[in-house]
Amino acid sequence: MINTGNKIVIIGAGPAGLSLSASLMIAGVDHIILEKIDKPGGQTGYINNSLDDLIIGNINNGKKLTKKFKEFVTKHRLPVLYNCNVMSIDLINKSVIYENKNANTEIKFNILVVASGSRLKIDNSFNGLGYDDHIYHRISRNIDDFKGKTSSVIGNGDNAAIAALKLSEISDRVFLINRSDKWKARKDLIARINKTNNIETIINHSLKSLHGRDRLEEIRVSNDKVDKIIKCDKLVFKIGYLPNTEFLSGHIDLTENGYMICDENFRSSDCSIYGIGDVLSSSFKRISVAIGHGTQLASILIRDHF
Ligand SMILES: Cc1cc2nc3c(=O)[nH]c(=O)nc-3n(C[C@H](O)[C@H](O)[C@H](O)COP(=O)(O)OP(=O)(O)OC[C@H]3O[C@@H](n4cnc5c(N)ncnc54)[C@H](O)[C@@H]3O)c2cc1C
Repeated sequence: MINTGNKIVIIGAGPAGLSLSASLMIAGVDHIILEKIDKPGGQTGYINNSLDDLIIGNINNGKKLTKKFKEFVTKHRLPVLYNCNVMSIDLINKSVIYENKNANTEIKFNILVVASGSRLKIDNSFNGLGYDDHIYHRISRNIDDFKGKTSSVIGNGDNAAIAALKLSEISDRVFLINRSDKWKARKDLIARINKTNNIETIINHSLKSLHGRDRLEEIRVSNDKVDKIIKCDKLVFKIGYLPNTEFLSGHIDLTENGYMICDENFRSSDCSIYGIGDVLSSSFKRISVAIGHGTQLASILIRDHF
């Protein structure tokens, strides 16, 4: 077991965890970051669009930002331990158990900050039917697959709406299928969708089944009374995100979907555990918000504990 004394242990080297680390570093507060993968930046590595609402400069895509994060970590010697996947926590011993190189290590903490972010929700229930090559959860890297096709997008949030708009530029026809009668997506996106000739929205319908001989040819959607057959070649799921908080289950208060419930000082139902960034039930999923949380929590921790 690694005894870290009065150390703050941060889980996750995404924008939230790195921003907290940077501020703690400046204040000379001892801490460590455990990061599951081999690089910093979290979800920014998956962003293919340009980051137009970040006012810090011209950033064409998330990879550029990830590179900047990497440079920052090296330059400021932020204490990130890579390839450390946090598996569980022990609130009695105040320790975190993580896996590194197939071995489990336990590390003690006084303060634990969960900045482990979120991940795309994957629907595998239609896999293994012979259509896997035509089912997508991300489109940017495979955008050419959709050229001249008919595509169906399942979902009702911003990401579903953005995907439908993007596909409308390249596919012949796009269906946006929402199982509810309301949209969670921004009004401006829905307004753009309504003005786009080759997008058809279908509300109040859930996906029931996929059909086709050698490839996907049609899907069946239903409102529990009537079924609709939609001829399409490609199926895209954009059904939201899940928080990376499995290791917290049973230890602190979480929402039904696993998001952390924290007060205005980012403190969870256990006074030694804090949450910042995408893991928070109250958070808006944005890089600037995650960075802001990290900076704000550093001030709170320094004020209250050091
Ligand atoms: C495709 C896509 C497009 C986006 N577009 C934009 C955009 O245009 N503008 C914008 O502002 N935001 C955008 N976002 C959202 C933005 O990336 C997130 O809001 C932001 O990255 C959240 O930061 P975070 O630090 O809270 O979490 P994350 O970025 O998710 O980082 C969490 C880190 O924790 C690590 N981790 C997870 N579990 C464990 C574990 N058990 N043990 C150790 N480490 C763990 C992860 O590997 C990751 O490095 C986009 C996200 C995606 C996926």
